[in-house]
Amino acid sequence: MQKHTTIHRKKRKKIRRRYLGWAVLVLFFSIAIFGIKDKMVQDIMAEDIEETIKVKDTTVSSEIYPGLNLTTSTKDLDLYTLSISHPTTEVEWMNEQINNWVEDQEKEFALTLEENQEILKENDFSGHLNIQTKTEKLADKIYSLELEAYELAGGASGSVKYKTFIVDLNTQEMLTASDIFNLEEEAIEETKELLRENLYEDEETSDYVFDDLFEEKIATTDHWRVTMTPEQANFYFDQYEVGAAAAGAIKVSIPMEEIQYYLNKEFTERIGLEVPEIEVPLDPEGKYVALTFDDGPHAEVTPRVLEVLADYDAKATFYMLGSQVEYYPEIAKRVEEEGHEIGDHTMSHKDLSRLGSAQVAEEIDRSTAFIEGATATSPKSLRPPYGALNDEVKRLSGERSLPIIMWSVDSLDWQSRNATAIYNEVMANVTPGGIVLLHDIHSTTADALPQILAQLKEQGYEMITVSELLELGEYEGVGPYHSVDY
Ligand code: ZN
Repeated sequence: MQKHTTIHRKKRKKIRRRYLGWAVLVLFFSIAIFGIKDKMVQDIMAEDIEETIKVKDTTVSSEIYPGLNLTTSTKDLDLYTLSISHPTTEVEWMNEQINNWVEDQEKEFALTLEENQEILKENDFSGHLNIQTKTEKLADKIYSLELEAYELAGGASGSVKYKTFIVDLNTQEMLTASDIFNLEEEAIEETKELLRENLYEDEETSDYVFDDLFEEKIATTDHWRVTMTPEQANFYFDQYEVGAAAAGAIKVSIPMEEIQYYLNKEFTERIGLEVPEIEVPLDPEGKYVALTFDDGPHAEVTPRVLEVLADYDAKATFYMLGSQVEYYPEIAKRVEEEGHEIGDHTMSHKDLSRLGSAQVAEEIDRSTAFIEGATATSPKSLRPPYGALNDEVKRLSGERSLPIIMWSVDSLDWQSRNATAIYNEVMANVTPGGIVLLHDIHSTTADALPQILAQLKEQGYEMITVSELLELGEYEGVGPYHSVDY
Protein backbone atom coordinates (compact mmCIF):
# COMPACT_ATOMS: atom_id res chain seq x y z
CA MET A 1 0.00 0.00 0.00
CA GLN A 2 1.38 3.28 -0.99
CA LYS A 3 1.72 5.87 1.71
CA HIS A 4 1.04 9.51 1.49
CA THR A 5 3.94 11.65 0.39
CA THR A 6 3.83 15.39 0.43
CA ILE A 7 5.54 16.95 -2.48
CA HIS A 8 6.12 20.64 -2.73
CA ARG A 9 5.81 21.73 -6.22
CA LYS A 10 6.67 25.03 -7.71
CA LYS A 11 3.51 27.00 -8.09
CA ARG A 12 3.03 27.43 -11.71
CA LYS A 13 2.09 30.76 -13.06
CA LYS A 14 -1.13 30.14 -14.69
CA ILE A 15 -3.22 32.58 -16.46
CA ARG A 16 -6.55 31.07 -15.87
CA ARG A 17 -9.24 32.19 -18.12
CA ARG A 18 -12.00 29.92 -17.16
CA TYR A 19 -14.65 32.10 -18.55
CA LEU A 20 -13.42 32.58 -22.05
CA GLY A 21 -16.16 31.87 -24.43
CA TRP A 22 -16.35 30.14 -27.71
CA ALA A 23 -15.29 33.29 -29.48
CA VAL A 24 -11.80 32.94 -28.08
CA LEU A 25 -11.67 29.27 -29.00
CA VAL A 26 -12.63 30.10 -32.53
CA LEU A 27 -9.97 32.80 -32.62
CA PHE A 28 -7.28 30.35 -31.56
CA PHE A 29 -8.42 27.82 -34.09
CA SER A 30 -8.22 30.51 -36.73
CA ILE A 31 -4.69 31.39 -35.77
CA ALA A 32 -3.72 27.75 -35.92
CA ILE A 33 -5.34 27.28 -39.27
CA PHE A 34 -3.63 30.28 -40.78
CA GLY A 35 -0.36 28.89 -39.56
CA ILE A 36 1.16 31.99 -38.08
CA LYS A 37 3.74 30.03 -36.25
CA ASP A 38 6.97 31.93 -36.27
CA LYS A 39 6.30 34.06 -33.28
CA MET A 40 5.13 31.11 -31.21
CA VAL A 41 8.13 29.01 -32.08
CA GLN A 42 10.35 31.61 -30.47
CA ASP A 43 8.25 31.42 -27.37
CA ILE A 44 8.57 27.78 -26.57
CA MET A 45 11.17 27.85 -23.95
CA ALA A 46 9.98 25.50 -21.26
CA GLU A 47 9.24 28.41 -18.93
CA ASP A 48 7.10 30.08 -21.48
CA ILE A 49 5.10 27.00 -22.16
CA GLU A 50 3.96 27.05 -18.60
CA GLU A 51 2.68 30.51 -19.11
CA THR A 52 0.68 29.78 -22.17
CA ILE A 53 -2.99 30.17 -22.04
CA LYS A 54 -5.05 27.40 -20.59
CA VAL A 55 -8.28 27.68 -22.42
CA LYS A 56 -10.32 25.31 -20.38
CA ASP A 57 -9.89 23.63 -17.03
CA THR A 58 -12.97 22.03 -15.63
CA THR A 59 -13.71 19.38 -13.06
CA VAL A 60 -16.89 17.42 -13.31
CA SER A 61 -17.95 14.88 -10.72
CA SER A 62 -19.04 11.57 -12.08
CA GLU A 63 -22.43 10.02 -11.51
CA ILE A 64 -21.34 6.72 -12.95
CA TYR A 65 -18.16 6.49 -10.86
CA PRO A 66 -19.04 7.79 -7.39
CA GLY A 67 -16.02 9.32 -5.66
CA LEU A 68 -14.25 10.15 -8.91
CA ASN A 69 -14.15 13.50 -10.65
CA LEU A 70 -12.87 14.16 -14.11
CA THR A 71 -10.54 17.10 -14.60
CA THR A 72 -10.25 18.27 -18.14
CA SER A 73 -8.03 20.92 -19.62
CA THR A 74 -7.22 21.88 -23.15
CA LYS A 75 -4.71 24.24 -24.69
CA ASP A 76 -5.03 25.15 -28.28
CA LEU A 77 -2.06 27.03 -29.69
CA ASP A 78 -0.73 27.19 -33.19
CA LEU A 79 2.44 25.35 -32.26
CA TYR A 80 0.79 22.63 -30.31
CA THR A 81 -2.46 21.45 -28.93
CA LEU A 82 -2.96 19.81 -25.61
CA SER A 83 -5.92 17.92 -24.28
CA ILE A 84 -5.75 16.36 -20.86
CA SER A 85 -8.43 14.51 -19.04
CA HIS A 86 -7.69 12.67 -15.83
CA PRO A 87 -9.54 11.60 -12.70
CA THR A 88 -9.27 13.13 -9.28
CA THR A 89 -10.51 11.68 -6.01
CA GLU A 90 -11.46 13.03 -2.61
CA VAL A 91 -8.05 11.89 -1.39
CA GLU A 92 -5.39 14.56 -1.80
CA TRP A 93 -2.30 12.30 -1.79
CA MET A 94 -3.87 10.11 -4.47
CA ASN A 95 -4.48 13.17 -6.61
CA GLU A 96 -0.83 14.13 -6.23
CA GLN A 97 0.27 10.73 -7.52
CA ILE A 98 -1.93 11.13 -10.57
CA ASN A 99 -1.04 14.79 -11.11
CA ASN A 100 2.68 14.11 -10.84
CA TRP A 101 2.55 11.73 -13.74
CA VAL A 102 0.39 14.04 -15.83
CA GLU A 103 2.73 16.96 -15.18
CA ASP A 104 5.77 14.85 -16.01
CA GLN A 105 4.21 14.10 -19.37
CA GLU A 106 3.61 17.81 -19.98
CA LYS A 107 7.19 18.67 -19.08
CA GLU A 108 8.66 15.97 -21.26
CA PHE A 109 6.42 17.04 -24.08
CA ALA A 110 7.59 20.65 -23.70
CA LEU A 111 11.22 19.57 -23.77
CA THR A 112 10.72 17.42 -26.85
CA LEU A 113 8.94 20.29 -28.56
CA GLU A 114 11.83 22.54 -27.75
CA GLU A 115 14.36 20.04 -29.11
CA ASN A 116 12.36 19.58 -32.25
CA GLN A 117 11.35 23.14 -32.90
CA GLU A 118 13.43 23.49 -36.04
CA ILE A 119 11.99 20.31 -37.52
CA LEU A 120 8.52 21.38 -36.55
CA LYS A 121 9.03 24.73 -38.17
CA GLU A 122 10.49 23.34 -41.37
CA ASN A 123 7.80 20.75 -41.81
CA ASP A 124 4.96 22.94 -40.72
CA PHE A 125 4.01 20.44 -38.01
CA SER A 126 2.28 21.22 -34.79
CA GLY A 127 2.72 19.17 -31.65
CA HIS A 128 0.01 17.42 -29.81
CA LEU A 129 -0.33 15.92 -26.35
CA ASN A 130 -3.41 13.98 -25.45
CA ILE A 131 -3.94 12.33 -22.08
CA GLN A 132 -7.06 10.30 -21.60
CA THR A 133 -8.28 7.99 -18.88
CA LYS A 134 -10.06 4.68 -19.17
CA THR A 135 -11.98 3.96 -16.00
CA GLU A 136 -13.25 0.55 -14.98
CA LYS A 137 -15.42 0.03 -11.94
CA LEU A 138 -14.39 -3.19 -10.20
CA ALA A 139 -16.67 -2.84 -7.19
CA ASP A 140 -18.32 -0.10 -5.19
CA LYS A 141 -15.77 2.76 -5.11
CA ILE A 142 -12.97 0.49 -6.39
CA TYR A 143 -11.65 1.61 -9.74
CA SER A 144 -9.04 0.61 -12.24
CA LEU A 145 -7.58 3.60 -14.09
CA GLU A 146 -5.57 3.54 -17.29
CA LEU A 147 -3.97 6.86 -18.22
CA GLU A 148 -2.76 6.99 -21.79
CA ALA A 149 -0.52 9.79 -23.00
CA TYR A 150 -0.38 10.13 -26.74
CA GLU A 151 2.34 12.51 -27.86
CA LEU A 152 3.11 13.92 -31.26
CA ALA A 153 6.14 16.16 -30.99
CA GLY A 154 8.16 16.16 -34.17
CA GLY A 155 8.20 12.69 -35.64
CA ALA A 156 5.63 11.62 -38.16
CA SER A 157 4.21 8.99 -35.82
CA GLY A 158 3.18 9.57 -32.25
CA SER A 159 4.26 7.74 -29.16
CA VAL A 160 2.13 6.32 -26.40
CA LYS A 161 2.85 5.97 -22.70
CA TYR A 162 0.77 4.40 -19.99
CA LYS A 163 0.25 4.82 -16.28
CA THR A 164 -2.05 2.67 -14.24
CA PHE A 165 -3.73 2.92 -10.86
CA ILE A 166 -6.09 0.65 -9.01
CA VAL A 167 -7.71 2.64 -6.22
CA ASP A 168 -9.97 1.62 -3.36
CA LEU A 169 -11.73 4.77 -2.22
CA ASN A 170 -13.44 2.92 0.63
CA THR A 171 -10.12 2.27 2.37
CA GLN A 172 -8.25 5.10 0.61
CA GLU A 173 -5.63 2.78 -0.82
CA MET A 174 -3.78 2.67 -4.07
CA LEU A 175 -3.25 -1.01 -4.61
CA THR A 176 0.20 -2.31 -5.46
CA ALA A 177 1.25 -5.64 -6.98
CA SER A 178 1.35 -7.25 -3.55
CA ASP A 179 -2.26 -6.24 -2.92
CA ILE A 180 -3.46 -7.53 -6.28
CA PHE A 181 -1.40 -10.63 -6.96
CA ASN A 182 -0.55 -13.76 -5.08
CA LEU A 183 3.19 -13.21 -4.67
CA GLU A 184 4.09 -16.75 -3.72
CA GLU A 185 6.86 -17.87 -6.04
CA GLU A 186 4.79 -20.50 -7.80
CA ALA A 187 1.93 -18.09 -8.45
CA ILE A 188 4.31 -15.43 -9.80
CA GLU A 189 5.82 -17.97 -12.20
CA GLU A 190 2.35 -18.93 -13.45
CA THR A 191 1.45 -15.26 -13.95
CA LYS A 192 4.67 -14.68 -15.91
CA GLU A 193 3.94 -17.73 -18.02
CA LEU A 194 0.50 -16.32 -18.83
CA LEU A 195 2.14 -13.01 -19.76
CA ARG A 196 4.52 -14.77 -22.16
CA GLU A 197 1.77 -16.90 -23.70
CA ASN A 198 -0.49 -13.92 -24.32
CA LEU A 199 2.34 -11.70 -25.59
CA TYR A 200 3.71 -14.21 -28.07
CA GLU A 201 0.23 -15.05 -29.30
CA ASP A 202 0.27 -11.69 -31.07
CA GLU A 203 2.96 -12.29 -33.67
CA GLU A 204 2.79 -8.81 -35.11
CA THR A 205 3.93 -7.34 -31.82
CA SER A 206 6.05 -10.15 -30.44
CA ASP A 207 8.35 -10.09 -33.49
CA TYR A 208 9.67 -6.76 -32.23
CA VAL A 209 10.02 -7.79 -28.61
CA PHE A 210 13.48 -8.44 -27.17
CA ASP A 211 13.00 -11.50 -25.01
CA ASP A 212 15.71 -10.66 -22.50
CA LEU A 213 14.39 -7.13 -22.02
CA PHE A 214 10.90 -8.48 -21.56
CA GLU A 215 12.10 -11.02 -18.99
CA GLU A 216 14.02 -8.33 -17.15
CA LYS A 217 10.95 -6.10 -17.03
CA ILE A 218 8.57 -8.74 -15.72
CA ALA A 219 11.07 -10.18 -13.23
CA THR A 220 10.24 -7.65 -10.53
CA THR A 221 6.59 -7.47 -9.57
CA ASP A 222 7.06 -3.84 -8.46
CA HIS A 223 7.44 -2.97 -12.15
CA TRP A 224 4.15 -4.50 -13.16
CA ARG A 225 1.72 -1.91 -14.45
CA VAL A 226 -1.75 -3.36 -14.44
CA THR A 227 -5.36 -2.52 -15.02
CA MET A 228 -8.31 -4.82 -14.53
CA THR A 229 -11.73 -5.31 -15.96
CA PRO A 230 -14.10 -8.06 -14.91
CA GLU A 231 -13.05 -9.86 -18.11
CA GLN A 232 -9.27 -9.44 -18.11
CA ALA A 233 -6.06 -8.11 -16.61
CA ASN A 234 -3.92 -5.80 -18.78
CA PHE A 235 -0.17 -5.38 -18.42
CA TYR A 236 1.55 -2.33 -19.93
CA PHE A 237 4.95 -1.72 -21.47
CA ASP A 238 5.93 1.63 -22.95
CA GLN A 239 7.52 2.05 -26.33
CA TYR A 240 11.23 0.98 -26.26
CA GLU A 241 10.71 -0.60 -22.84
CA VAL A 242 10.74 -4.21 -24.01
CA GLY A 243 11.18 -4.01 -27.75
CA ALA A 244 12.00 -2.11 -30.89
CA ALA A 245 10.28 1.18 -31.65
CA ALA A 246 8.10 -0.49 -34.24
CA ALA A 247 6.35 -2.46 -31.52
CA GLY A 248 5.06 0.78 -30.01
CA ALA A 249 3.59 0.63 -26.53
CA ILE A 250 2.52 -2.89 -25.69
CA LYS A 251 -0.53 -3.98 -23.79
CA VAL A 252 -0.77 -7.66 -22.90
CA SER A 253 -4.22 -8.83 -21.89
CA ILE A 254 -4.80 -12.01 -19.92
CA PRO A 255 -8.35 -13.34 -19.68
CA MET A 256 -9.71 -13.31 -16.13
CA GLU A 257 -10.57 -17.01 -16.27
CA GLU A 258 -6.85 -17.68 -16.66
CA ILE A 259 -5.33 -15.20 -14.23
CA GLN A 260 -7.91 -15.34 -11.46
CA TYR A 261 -6.15 -18.27 -9.78
CA TYR A 262 -3.00 -16.18 -9.25
CA LEU A 263 -4.60 -13.11 -7.74
CA ASN A 264 -4.37 -12.22 -4.08
CA LYS A 265 -7.38 -13.78 -2.31
CA GLU A 266 -8.07 -10.55 -0.41
CA PHE A 267 -8.18 -8.74 -3.74
CA THR A 268 -10.64 -11.14 -5.36
CA GLU A 269 -12.82 -10.87 -2.26
CA ARG A 270 -12.51 -7.09 -2.33
CA ILE A 271 -13.84 -6.92 -5.88
CA GLY A 272 -16.36 -9.73 -5.35
CA LEU A 273 -14.78 -12.09 -7.86
CA GLU A 274 -15.69 -15.70 -7.20
CA VAL A 275 -12.72 -17.79 -8.18
CA PRO A 276 -13.65 -21.39 -8.89
CA GLU A 277 -11.48 -24.02 -7.28
CA ILE A 278 -8.83 -25.37 -9.56
CA GLU A 279 -10.02 -28.70 -10.92
CA VAL A 280 -7.51 -31.33 -10.02
CA PRO A 281 -7.65 -34.13 -12.56
CA LEU A 282 -8.37 -37.55 -11.13
CA ASP A 283 -5.31 -39.68 -10.62
CA PRO A 284 -5.55 -43.06 -12.39
CA GLU A 285 -3.54 -44.48 -9.52
CA GLY A 286 -5.86 -42.89 -6.94
CA LYS A 287 -8.32 -44.60 -4.60
CA TYR A 288 -11.87 -43.69 -5.55
CA VAL A 289 -15.31 -44.85 -4.64
CA ALA A 290 -18.78 -43.77 -5.81
CA LEU A 291 -21.52 -43.69 -3.19
CA THR A 292 -25.03 -43.90 -4.63
CA PHE A 293 -28.33 -43.14 -2.90
CA ASP A 294 -31.54 -44.55 -4.37
CA ASP A 295 -35.28 -43.94 -4.02
CA GLY A 296 -35.17 -40.29 -2.82
CA PRO A 297 -35.37 -37.41 -2.50
CA HIS A 298 -36.77 -37.85 1.01
CA ALA A 299 -37.96 -34.89 3.07
CA GLU A 300 -35.94 -35.76 6.18
CA VAL A 301 -33.23 -38.24 5.27
CA THR A 302 -31.87 -36.58 2.10
CA PRO A 303 -31.01 -33.28 3.85
CA ARG A 304 -29.25 -35.23 6.60
CA VAL A 305 -27.26 -37.18 4.02
CA LEU A 306 -26.30 -33.93 2.27
CA GLU A 307 -24.98 -32.45 5.49
CA VAL A 308 -22.80 -35.45 6.27
CA LEU A 309 -21.44 -35.51 2.70
CA ALA A 310 -20.56 -31.81 2.99
CA ASP A 311 -18.81 -32.41 6.32
CA TYR A 312 -16.53 -34.96 4.68
CA ASP A 313 -16.09 -33.10 1.40
CA ALA A 314 -17.62 -36.11 -0.37
CA LYS A 315 -19.56 -36.14 -3.64
CA ALA A 316 -22.23 -38.74 -4.38
CA THR A 317 -24.81 -39.74 -6.96
CA PHE A 318 -28.54 -39.75 -6.22
CA TYR A 319 -30.78 -42.04 -8.27
CA MET A 320 -34.06 -40.27 -7.90
CA LEU A 321 -37.60 -41.46 -8.43
CA GLY A 322 -39.73 -39.11 -10.51
CA SER A 323 -42.60 -39.63 -8.06
CA GLN A 324 -40.40 -38.32 -5.22
CA VAL A 325 -38.98 -35.40 -7.20
CA GLU A 326 -42.56 -34.38 -7.99
CA TYR A 327 -43.18 -33.95 -4.23
CA TYR A 328 -39.77 -32.59 -3.22
CA PRO A 329 -38.36 -30.58 -6.13
CA GLU A 330 -36.53 -28.20 -3.75
CA ILE A 331 -34.55 -31.06 -2.23
CA ALA A 332 -33.64 -32.34 -5.70
CA LYS A 333 -32.43 -28.86 -6.53
CA ARG A 334 -30.35 -28.68 -3.37
CA VAL A 335 -28.69 -32.00 -4.22
CA GLU A 336 -27.60 -30.58 -7.54
CA GLU A 337 -26.53 -27.21 -6.11
CA GLU A 338 -24.27 -28.93 -3.61
CA GLY A 339 -22.33 -30.51 -6.45
CA HIS A 340 -23.74 -34.02 -6.44
CA GLU A 341 -24.86 -35.96 -9.47
CA ILE A 342 -28.42 -36.96 -10.24
CA GLY A 343 -29.42 -40.18 -11.96
CA ASP A 344 -32.77 -41.56 -13.14
CA HIS A 345 -34.36 -44.32 -11.03
CA THR A 346 -37.60 -44.29 -13.10
CA MET A 347 -40.93 -42.70 -12.35
CA SER A 348 -42.52 -45.24 -10.04
CA HIS A 349 -40.02 -48.02 -9.20
CA LYS A 350 -41.54 -50.77 -11.33
CA ASP A 351 -39.61 -53.82 -12.49
CA LEU A 352 -38.69 -52.65 -16.00
CA SER A 353 -37.94 -56.20 -17.21
CA ARG A 354 -41.64 -56.97 -16.87
CA LEU A 355 -42.91 -53.96 -18.79
CA GLY A 356 -43.59 -53.38 -22.46
CA SER A 357 -41.38 -51.11 -24.49
CA ALA A 358 -43.67 -48.07 -24.35
CA GLN A 359 -44.10 -48.38 -20.59
CA VAL A 360 -40.35 -48.61 -20.00
CA ALA A 361 -39.82 -45.49 -22.11
CA GLU A 362 -42.51 -43.69 -20.15
CA GLU A 363 -41.00 -44.74 -16.80
CA ILE A 364 -37.64 -43.28 -17.79
CA ASP A 365 -38.86 -40.18 -19.60
CA ARG A 366 -41.37 -38.98 -17.00
CA SER A 367 -38.76 -39.21 -14.27
CA THR A 368 -36.24 -37.36 -16.42
CA ALA A 369 -38.81 -34.62 -17.04
CA PHE A 370 -39.41 -34.13 -13.29
CA ILE A 371 -35.67 -34.01 -12.62
CA GLU A 372 -35.11 -31.48 -15.40
CA GLY A 373 -38.06 -29.44 -14.15
CA ALA A 374 -36.74 -29.27 -10.59
CA THR A 375 -33.04 -28.80 -11.29
CA ALA A 376 -30.83 -27.19 -13.91
CA THR A 377 -29.51 -30.57 -14.95
CA SER A 378 -30.43 -33.83 -16.67
CA PRO A 379 -29.89 -37.30 -15.23
CA LYS A 380 -26.50 -38.67 -16.22
CA SER A 381 -27.27 -42.37 -15.93
CA LEU A 382 -30.04 -44.86 -15.22
CA ARG A 383 -30.36 -47.32 -12.39
CA PRO A 384 -33.22 -49.70 -13.02
CA PRO A 385 -35.21 -50.59 -9.88
CA TYR A 386 -34.11 -53.94 -8.35
CA GLY A 387 -31.32 -53.96 -10.94
CA ALA A 388 -33.83 -55.67 -13.21
CA LEU A 389 -32.80 -55.53 -16.85
CA ASN A 390 -33.45 -56.98 -20.25
CA ASP A 391 -32.25 -56.14 -23.75
CA GLU A 392 -35.13 -53.75 -24.39
CA VAL A 393 -34.27 -51.73 -21.26
CA LYS A 394 -30.64 -51.57 -22.44
CA ARG A 395 -31.71 -50.50 -25.91
CA LEU A 396 -34.02 -47.74 -24.61
CA SER A 397 -31.46 -46.37 -22.16
CA GLY A 398 -28.84 -46.48 -24.93
CA GLU A 399 -31.14 -44.43 -27.14
CA ARG A 400 -31.24 -41.83 -24.37
CA SER A 401 -27.46 -41.86 -23.82
CA LEU A 402 -28.06 -43.05 -20.26
CA PRO A 403 -25.53 -45.67 -19.18
CA ILE A 404 -27.05 -48.23 -16.86
CA ILE A 405 -25.29 -48.22 -13.52
CA MET A 406 -25.50 -51.16 -11.15
CA TRP A 407 -23.38 -51.53 -8.00
CA SER A 408 -20.46 -53.52 -6.63
CA VAL A 409 -21.30 -53.17 -2.93
CA ASP A 410 -24.83 -53.64 -1.58
CA SER A 411 -25.01 -52.07 1.87
CA LEU A 412 -28.22 -54.04 2.55
CA ASP A 413 -29.42 -50.94 4.38
CA TRP A 414 -32.98 -51.65 3.23
CA GLN A 415 -32.80 -55.00 5.05
CA SER A 416 -30.77 -54.46 8.22
CA ARG A 417 -31.99 -50.95 9.07
CA ASN A 418 -29.08 -50.87 11.49
CA ALA A 419 -26.24 -48.36 11.34
CA THR A 420 -23.53 -50.71 12.57
CA ALA A 421 -24.60 -53.47 10.20
CA ILE A 422 -24.62 -51.02 7.28
CA TYR A 423 -21.15 -49.78 8.18
CA ASN A 424 -19.77 -53.32 8.48
CA GLU A 425 -21.29 -54.42 5.18
CA VAL A 426 -19.83 -51.45 3.27
CA MET A 427 -16.37 -51.60 4.77
CA ALA A 428 -16.12 -55.38 4.31
CA ASN A 429 -16.79 -55.15 0.59
CA VAL A 430 -15.54 -51.80 -0.66
CA THR A 431 -12.70 -51.74 -3.21
CA PRO A 432 -11.10 -48.92 -5.20
CA GLY A 433 -13.41 -48.11 -8.13
CA GLY A 434 -16.37 -49.55 -6.27
CA ILE A 435 -19.97 -48.37 -6.53
CA VAL A 436 -21.84 -48.56 -3.23
CA LEU A 437 -25.63 -48.95 -3.09
CA LEU A 438 -27.36 -47.01 -0.30
CA HIS A 439 -30.85 -45.52 0.12
CA ASP A 440 -31.58 -41.98 1.29
CA ILE A 441 -35.00 -42.98 2.63
CA HIS A 442 -33.89 -44.80 5.80
CA SER A 443 -32.77 -42.73 8.78
CA THR A 444 -30.45 -45.61 9.80
CA THR A 445 -28.54 -45.06 6.55
CA ALA A 446 -28.00 -41.41 7.49
CA ASP A 447 -26.93 -42.60 10.97
CA ALA A 448 -24.30 -44.91 9.48
CA LEU A 449 -22.91 -42.40 7.03
CA PRO A 450 -20.51 -40.34 9.24
CA GLN A 451 -18.71 -43.47 10.38
CA ILE A 452 -18.53 -44.87 6.83
CA LEU A 453 -17.12 -41.62 5.42
CA ALA A 454 -14.63 -41.20 8.24
CA GLN A 455 -13.33 -44.73 7.71
CA LEU A 456 -13.18 -44.42 3.90
CA LYS A 457 -11.17 -41.20 4.27
CA GLU A 458 -8.95 -42.87 6.82
CA GLN A 459 -8.22 -45.56 4.24
CA GLY A 460 -7.35 -42.94 1.63
CA TYR A 461 -10.54 -43.09 -0.42
CA GLU A 462 -11.93 -40.10 -2.24
CA MET A 463 -15.70 -40.05 -2.77
CA ILE A 464 -16.60 -39.01 -6.32
CA THR A 465 -19.62 -39.16 -8.62
CA VAL A 466 -20.44 -42.04 -10.92
CA SER A 467 -19.64 -39.97 -14.03
CA GLU A 468 -16.23 -39.06 -12.66
CA LEU A 469 -15.57 -42.71 -11.91
CA LEU A 470 -16.55 -43.70 -15.45
CA GLU A 471 -14.26 -41.00 -16.89
CA LEU A 472 -11.34 -42.84 -15.39
CA GLY A 473 -12.04 -45.39 -18.12
CA GLU A 474 -10.01 -48.52 -17.68
CA TYR A 475 -9.59 -47.79 -13.99
CA GLU A 476 -9.40 -51.16 -12.35
CA GLY A 477 -12.41 -52.51 -10.52
CA VAL A 478 -15.04 -49.99 -11.59
CA GLY A 479 -18.22 -51.53 -10.29
CA PRO A 480 -20.54 -53.19 -12.76
CA TYR A 481 -22.23 -50.96 -15.23
CA HIS A 482 -23.58 -51.30 -18.73
CA SER A 483 -22.40 -48.71 -21.17
CA VAL A 484 -24.68 -47.13 -23.74
CA ASP A 485 -22.86 -48.97 -26.54
CA TYR A 486 -25.09 -51.91 -27.14
ZN1 ZN B 1 -34.75 -48.40 -5.75
